[in-house]
Amino acid sequence: MKLKNKVALITGASRGIGRATALLFAKEGANIIVNYFKAENEANSVVQDIKKMGADAITIKCDVSKENEVKQMVDKAIKKFGKIDILVNNAGIVFDVPFKDRTVEHWKRTLDVNLIGAFICAKHVTSHMKKGHIVNIASTNGINACSPESMDYDASKAGLISLTKTLAQALAPNVMVNCVAPGWVDTDINKDLPKDYVKSETQNILLKRFGKPEEIAKTVLFLVSDDASFITGTTVVVAGGYQ
Ligand code: NAD
Repeated sequence: MKLKNKVALITGASRGIGRATALLFAKEGANIIVNYFKAENEANSVVQDIKKMGADAITIKCDVSKENEVKQMVDKAIKKFGKIDILVNNAGIVFDVPFKDRTVEHWKRTLDVNLIGAFICAKHVTSHMKKGHIVNIASTNGINACSPESMDYDASKAGLISLTKTLAQALAPNVMVNCVAPGWVDTDINKDLPKDYVKSETQNILLKRFGKPEEIAKTVLFLVSDDASFITGTTVVVAGGYQ
C-alpha cells in the first residue's frame, strides 16, 4: 500500500474526481477527510465506501472560499486524526456563460472558490503539516483549452498553476506541491454541456473519449507517493492528448 497510515484532506470529495481520489487513496491505506459543500448524503456514502475498505474517514462540510470555515475544518481534522499529510485542492466551479452575460459576480465567485480557496486551504493545512504533499487540480483550460464561455474559470486555473509553483517555493523542502491539469473528464461539472459541443470536443482528443475520474485519481496518487520523490512545482497534464 502506497499511503499506509497517511491522512489526506480532499476538498469537494463527495463526487467526481474528488470522490475517485478519496476512494483510491483509501485503497492505498490512507485515512480520509471528505470535504463537501452541499451534498451531505453523497459525502456520507463516500465515507461508508472508504470504511468498507478498512480505512477511516469523516465528512466535513465547508465552503473552501470562507477562511473561518476552512480553519474550523482543519481543526476538526487535526482533532480526529492528529495530522494531515496530504491536501488535494480539488473543489472547483464553472459558470458557462457568454462574454456579454458574464458579470463581476461570476468572476469573483469563480476566483474565490477555485484559486483563493486553494490558497486558504494550503495556508491552514500547512500550519499543521511538518512534511507532506499538496496537489492542486487545475485544468487544461488554464493552459491551452481556454474559451470565452469560461474566461474566469480559465484564469482561475492558470492562477492555480502559478500558485503551485509559488507554494512549492514557499514550502520546500518539506512540503511538495504539484498540480494535475485534466482535460475533459466525464463528471457532473460537464453534465449540461450541449451534445454537439461534447461531440466536437471529443474529436479534439487524440484518444477520442473523455477521461474517467479514476484516471485523474491515479496521477494524483502518483504525485503524493514515494514514486514522485523528486517532483515539486510541476503540472502534469492528463488529457488524452487534447489538441
Ligand atoms: P464536480 O462538479 O463533480 O466536482 C466539484 C466538487 O467541488 C463538487 O463536489 C462540489 O460540491 C465541490 N465544490 C464546489 N464549490 C465548493 C466550495 N465552495 N467548497 C467546497 N467544495 C466545493 O466536477 P469534477 O469534474 O469532479 O471537478 C473536480 C475538479 O476537477 C474541479 O476543480 C474542476 O475544475 C477540475 N476539472 C474538471 C474537469 C472535467 O472535465 N470534469 C476538467 C479539468 C479540471
